[in-house]
Amino acid sequence: MAPYPDRIVVIGAGPVGLVLSLALAQADLRVCLVEALGEDNFLEQVPRAGTNHPATLEMFDRIGLYERLEPRGIIAPVFHYWDRAEGKLIAAFDHAHLKNDTRFPYVLQCERIKIVEEALQMAKAHPNIEVRLATEFVSFSQDGDGVTARVVNGVGEPEIIAGRYIVSCEGARSIVRKELGIAFEGFTYEDRTLNIEVAYDFRKHGYAERNYISDPQEWSNLFHWKGPPDRWRVHFPTDPRADEATLTSPEALQARMQKFLPTGKPFDIIGSNLYVVHQRVAQKFRIGRAILAGDSAHVNSPIGAMGMNSGIHDAINLADKLIAMARKESDDSVLDRYERQRRHVAIAHTQAQTIRNKRLLAERDPVVRKRNHDELRRTAEDPERARQFLLRTALFESLREADAIA
Ligand SMILES: Cc1cc2nc3c(=O)[nH]c(=O)nc-3n(C[C@H](O)[C@H](O)[C@H](O)COP(=O)(O)OP(=O)(O)OC[C@H]3O[C@@H](n4cnc5c(N)ncnc54)[C@H](O)[C@@H]3O)c2cc1C
Repeated sequence: MAPYPDRIVVIGAGPVGLVLSLALAQADLRVCLVEALGEDNFLEQVPRAGTNHPATLEMFDRIGLYERLEPRGIIAPVFHYWDRAEGKLIAAFDHAHLKNDTRFPYVLQCERIKIVEEALQMAKAHPNIEVRLATEFVSFSQDGDGVTARVVNGVGEPEIIAGRYIVSCEGARSIVRKELGIAFEGFTYEDRTLNIEVAYDFRKHGYAERNYISDPQEWSNLFHWKGPPDRWRVHFPTDPRADEATLTSPEALQARMQKFLPTGKPFDIIGSNLYVVHQRVAQKFRIGRAILAGDSAHVNSPIGAMGMNSGIHDAINLADKLIAMARKESDDSVLDRYERQRRHVAIAHTQAQTIRNKRLLAERDPVVRKRNHDELRRTAEDPERARQFLLRTALFESLREADAIA
């Protein structure tokens, strides 16, 4: 049989697959990037992630993506915790406390769709990346020397794409993970999250660009995105027994918004979607020449904005290891270190923190709520405690801990 082409096969041109491909290509590795969506529908994806933490901005900067994203996003140094029942601001956290820790003491509110649009343009322009849009990955096999991916190409024909390694950046439904028989351990929340996008300036009510709102009946998140038109995204929990059509009817969306903020005038609702929230981590991130990264390896609730961010951290960690291997600076045992590092972060940071975040916002016991809110207030008021808090929420602590793992 012909030798395997000396390239990495990356499945999925989401944020993780694109960042991985760019980091590899810029270090002179060759990549074949396979994406099911085509030119015609690539930008028709439902709204998802969008808060990019400082550590992630450093990574975007390393691959030249940051300068393309900043003009399309909103620089947001401050985020808020609110008590909806009391109608009061609990605490404001300012990333300025991290000014000596990072060149980016703020988050960038820039939606996933803009990130993939810009990164895809860069990938298409890079001579080391072969971008295969409208190509559906179906299955794969591997041996000691390489991998063979089976795809259906843009004209509906079966095709083989071979390489040295395959990286599944396919998202939560990863075929690679399923074919490898890797368990996706964890749980799924009973309640789904309703996302409503509205054109309305919530800042006139004192909100920051990014807000976490606690309420014993109906917690929410409120985020600002750059237009045109400028939009705000509001997340709400939903009754597990209610059907989607009822929850997302125009009247139901309007009623929910009016309950959240009674303005007396109808909100200009731009869109909505309902999604199921999972908290799961793959039991293994690598078997042989097949590796998982991003949502194919771990999924979590969006409260705290950690899913896409931690996936991008996987991509950069993995890129550095594949680059070191290509340069013969290390053997493939570094891929096991990738698993040890990033699985630890997924479990001890991303899962733990997002589960805690949801509990904090949804807490019903008034004594516990008061204790939590007092604690947040004290943390925000003490500069060193606020810095430590932000190092954790902005994911620096997870990166430091991963670095220390042999
Ligand atoms: C409502 C919502 C809000 C969120 N907000 C945040 C946030 O603020 N911050 C944050 O960090 N995270 C957030 N997340 C999570 C975030 O969206 C994901 O973690 C992130 O998109 C994962 O990136 P990925 O590249 O791993 O996978 P995906 O973004 O799922 O991309 C996978 C890609 O693979 C392609 N693909 C899939 N199957 C195949 C196949 N068989 N063949 C070829 N291609 C295939 C898909 O078309 C897609 O392009 C949110 C999620 C939701 C649902």
